Amino acid sequence: MESATKHFLAAFEIKNYLLKMGATLVGIGDVSHGLAVELRHLPVAISLAVRHPSPGRNLIYAMQGPLYSSRYEQVDLMLEQIQKKVVNLLRSQGFKSLAIPPDTHRRDNRFIARLYPLFSHKMAATCAGLGWIGKNGLLVNEIYGPRLSWATVLTNAPLEVCTSPYVASRCGNCRRCVDACPAGAISDREWSRDEGPVSHIDVEACRAQLEKNRQLVGEDLCGLCILVCPRGQLLSARKKGLTK
Ligand code: SF4
Ligand code: SF4
Repeated sequence: MESATKHFLAAFEIKNYLLKMGATLVGIGDVSHGLAVELRHLPVAISLAVRHPSPGRNLIYAMQGPLYSSRYEQVDLMLEQIQKKVVNLLRSQGFKSLAIPPDTHRRDNRFIARLYPLFSHKMAATCAGLGWIGKNGLLVNEIYGPRLSWATVLTNAPLEVCTSPYVASRCGNCRRCVDACPAGAISDREWSRDEGPVSHIDVEACRAQLEKNRQLVGEDLCGLCILVCPRGQLLSARKKGLTK
């Protein structure tokens, strides 16, 4: 058991396994400093992301311009399947784990959904070295920008964790999402881990804009703050063959 555990739970092997299962990004971080008391027995976070499908297929054109759908049932399904694999793997080795599902489950009444106020996928991803929290309030990755969906598995397995977590924003002088937001919901303020769980966007203003859009196009979509982010746009252009 001892040697099997050491062999099976090497962090790089878990990462490779989950990347093969379809994850776009996998990182492992120490989240012990920011966890609610209820979750402190699970101080290690395996942070998982799956990228959104190509933006072209996710644009809806309304009178006011393109709206971007950030709801991807297929992506979330894939994330949940990957979570199940890692939970089974950890449990088979005798470790505790808890899968926190993607954010689309926030409104569920299930027990697991009620954990959301106690936990943030974004914070886990920053601890795992996968990105920072952008001015748009989303996790921004250097390669994929904010065009990713996230899930996390918390565990007590003694995995090797990221030694270079993100502790501050890298948005810099960019303010494209600030200028693009039709609701004026985004402030030109950069995230820093020391500030704790502070919301960077005016959630009520954003919600009101989504409601306006629902009346316009039948769905409460917007996502302009995702669409305009320059991070990851080079990758999208490459995929479309627009650049090398
Ligand atoms: S989804 Fe739209 S309204 Fe909401 S913060 Fe982003 S740009 Fe603003
Ligand atoms: S658009 Fe610019 S400011 Fe907004 S999240 Fe992306 S990099 Fe940061």
